[in-house]
Amino acid sequence: MAIDGNKIIHAVMEGSKIRESKGIIPLFGVYLSLFSVDYYNRLNFEFENEMGEARDLEAKSLLIRAAQECGYATFQGIRNSWEWDQIVAPMIETKEDQILGFTAVAVAFGWGDLEVKDLIPGKKLVIRAGDSYEATGYMTRYGAAKSGKCYMLRGVTGAFMDLIYGGDYPDGLYAFSAEEPRCRAKGDPHCEFIASKSSRSTIS
Ligand SMILES: [Zn+2]
Repeated sequence: MAIDGNKIIHAVMEGSKIRESKGIIPLFGVYLSLFSVDYYNRLNFEFENEMGEARDLEAKSLLIRAAQECGYATFQGIRNSWEWDQIVAPMIETKEDQILGFTAVAVAFGWGDLEVKDLIPGKKLVIRAGDSYEATGYMTRYGAAKSGKCYMLRGVTGAFMDLIYGGDYPDGLYAFSAEEPRCRAKGDPHCEFIASKSSRSTIS
């Protein structure tokens, strides 16, 4: 059975009606909350600006690694949840379907209109986004970028591969790393994230 993204979106919309007293949404085995993308974008991009040109690569690496670690831990919780067992697991037939399931959940969470364009088991994952909030946020605030700006989705693409092909949790983190060769923020028609095996433990 193919992964039915609409079914997952519907389940997340229904489930997210339940809030704890502090606004936390307990869903898919993890704690979620509604978060302003403007705030997130400003925090990230101002951090990058404050680090300055000399430390630009370090700033980017920190932001991407934070997203990858977050994605790795969050989706580990998600794939071990009751909701995953009930809603997503019945649609999964192959190991690779898990990546499609992760992507559908990320879409349902509002992380972007993500689409898996290519997946070579154990080697490569290509995810495309036509409307990344990071690219939109960057362009709105700063204009055209010189390099890809979607650090969250770049880290998350690596995390998806880490979870499926990186070995036992938690040792698989950073087994893969992703690049963003195309980004709307620098004038491309869409953002594209390509994860492949890491040759080293840092992302540049
Ligand atoms: Zn982008």
